[in-house]
Amino acid sequence: MRVVLLGPPGAGKGTVAAALVAAYGVTHVSSGDLLRAAVAAETEVGRKAKAFMDSGRLVPDEVVVAAVVERLSQEDGRRGFVLDGFPRTAPQAEALDQALAAHGTALDAVLALEVPEAVVVGRLTARRTCEQCGRIYNLQTLKPAEDGVCDACGGRLIVRPDDRPETVRKRLEVYARQTEALVHYYEGRGLLIRVGAEGPVETVREAAVAALADAAS
Ligand code: ADP
Ligand code: AMP
Repeated sequence: MRVVLLGPPGAGKGTVAAALVAAYGVTHVSSGDLLRAAVAAETEVGRKAKAFMDSGRLVPDEVVVAAVVERLSQEDGRRGFVLDGFPRTAPQAEALDQALAAHGTALDAVLALEVPEAVVVGRLTARRTCEQCGRIYNLQTLKPAEDGVCDACGGRLIVRPDDRPETVRKRLEVYARQTEALVHYYEGRGLLIRVGAEGPVETVREAAVAALADAAS
């Protein structure tokens, strides 16, 4: 199964991806996680990406495409993936199609998570992320058992620097200007499945898993 998750920051892509991994055993590839790991490791990619990420702008296509295509070409990625946060521009979508075609494969479905802007702003301000394993929590809707500590690995829960209100506003503008049109790109290719993502976490996870089960049958 090769799936893309589309939706604004805070729509729940990472949260839904974790459910798809559990249900279908696919590999979760998050471009944001790849880039944050590169920044932390101070690699060449990380040095190129950092300033863009800190200010809520998109990292240049060639940097992100190279990182994601390399990740997808690894053994687990070749068996199937759920892509979260990529593509975010038309050139990225075209590069993904080409990279898959070069291996004789293609996307099976694109899930568009639909949620009003006011809701995602609230979610992002309350998001906490484990600095060790990347698991996602929310102070309102998905609390850890112990304040500030990851249930899964005991790591420290942090606020992502780009979840500050002024950067969140910028990221939502960038989504509207550069990414939202991909919904039509994939609709035109008959791949798009819209999933209402405003409900509670469990409802949205179940809806996403069911949408893919329908698409596969
Ligand atoms: P994205 O990957 O699209 O940026 P996340 O999966 O990180 O979004 O979710 C953003 C925040 O909203 C997180 O704190 C997450 O726990 C919370 N969240 C995700 N889905 C829901 C939902 N359906 N209802 C309420 N909160 C949610
Ligand atoms: P995310 O974790 O998906 O919210 O991404 C965090 C930040 O990483 C974004 O605001 C961008 O700066 C950068 N980023 C992640 N994915 C991409 C992408 N596909 N294209 C460009 N920049 C990206």
